[in-house]
Amino acid sequence: MDFNDTPEEAAFRKEAIEWLEANAERLAPGKRRQSGIAGTGELMKAAKAWQAKKADSKWACITWPEEFGGRSASSMQRVIFNEEEAKFDVPPNLFGIGQGMLGPTIMAHGTPEQKDRYLEPMLRADEVWCQLFSEPSAGSDLAGLRTTAVQDGDEWVVNGQKIWTTGAQESDWGMIVTRTDPTAKKHAGITYFIVDMKSPGIEVRPIHQINDSREFNEVFFSDVRIPDKNRVGAVNDGWRGAITTLMNERASIGSGGSMGVGIKDLLKLARETEWNGRPAIEDPSVREKIADFYWKLKGLEYTGYRALTSLSKGATPGPENSIGKMVGAPLRQDLAAFAMELQGAAGATNDPGDTPFGGAFQQSWLGSPGLRLAGGTDEILHNILAERVLGLPGEIRADKGLAFQDIPTGSAR
Ligand SMILES: Cc1cc2nc3c(=O)[nH]c(=O)nc-3n(C[C@H](O)[C@H](O)[C@H](O)COP(=O)(O)OP(=O)(O)OC[C@H]3O[C@@H](n4cnc5c(N)ncnc54)[C@H](O)[C@@H]3O)c2cc1C
Repeated sequence: MDFNDTPEEAAFRKEAIEWLEANAERLAPGKRRQSGIAGTGELMKAAKAWQAKKADSKWACITWPEEFGGRSASSMQRVIFNEEEAKFDVPPNLFGIGQGMLGPTIMAHGTPEQKDRYLEPMLRADEVWCQLFSEPSAGSDLAGLRTTAVQDGDEWVVNGQKIWTTGAQESDWGMIVTRTDPTAKKHAGITYFIVDMKSPGIEVRPIHQINDSREFNEVFFSDVRIPDKNRVGAVNDGWRGAITTLMNERASIGSGGSMGVGIKDLLKLARETEWNGRPAIEDPSVREKIADFYWKLKGLEYTGYRALTSLSKGATPGPENSIGKMVGAPLRQDLAAFAMELQGAAGATNDPGDTPFGGAFQQSWLGSPGLRLAGGTDEILHNILAERVLGLPGEIRADKGLAFQDIPTGSAR
């Protein structure tokens, strides 16, 4: 692993900086970029405009193949572009679910017509997408899903409920997995579709979160009609597409998602905050804690670089990529909690005007439990590492070999 850019990477970085300099303002010192996973109103408008600008100059979705409007760039080049873009005062990318997870699924399993129709507007963010996978009884065990699709001529009729659907209220299209054969084993009776989110029979109900935003939704389907041409992959073979989506989700979350406020902000806070009558940074217990965060974060950073290095040498992402999220998400939560403790009474409030860094540590702390769930909970990541990296015995399964309809359940199917 070499921390310096190769000559090719240095040339790519230079090209990216030149384009950014010509098209955006550098962030003023101390100014923070807005963050978010779903947006409304002005933020969404600004994010779409920035995405379209990038698309015009081929800086959108740079890892997508050239035939779909990308640059066929490497993961390393994506990191380089993201590093440089983060230094500019531009809106966040609110389109990661479509561009990072659903687009690659359409590329891998979609028909030529689907690729033609959907990928370009997705890349430009002219159309926004959501992922309709989770249900009240199907989260970690996604193959337990119960939303049904029944064929009626050249359409499918969908009934059921999805939950935790990020950005559904802003979305034009959704990718949905449904049960099409309950007599088959649970992974074998699933079919994957593209659904128009404006279809009659879809009701989106936002969920009010603890941090006051409304990024997720419950989505109800009552006799929603989806044309067969919107099916992705073969009937009852939707698990294959779902796995493609999930692999891309793990890769995008595992490969270094932003920490929001980080160690530099914590250091600044410790220098500026009084703790037992002197700057907190002078207190040995505070210094020890910060040093502890520092080495763990460095370890994560280098683990991430190691993964990127092997990716750039042609390796495919393996289960060890789960380490980044498994360690990083709780670490972010602990760091934010410690920063709030340093703030004394102000730490307990969530008013941006009354708290250091405009409440960014509070927001980070309130948002971090979600990071520990999305894309695989802590427990599931531990299971993956135990079984697939350490080779420990697998979980005992009561549903192996059974048709979905025969799996014992405590609730209505
Ligand atoms: C920020 C965020 C955004 C999300 N966005 C979307 C989205 O856009 N679209 C979408 O479809 N979904 C989305 N989700 C849902 C997410 O995929 C699920 O929350 C996740 O899969 C966990 O499922 P669950 O919440 O149903 O928990 P469950 O699977 O019911 O788990 C409950 C608890 O049991 C534990 N558990 C379950 N099985 C095992 C096991 N085998 N061994 C040990 N422990 C186990 C879990 O780890 C957890 O602690 C989002 C979630 C979050 C937090």
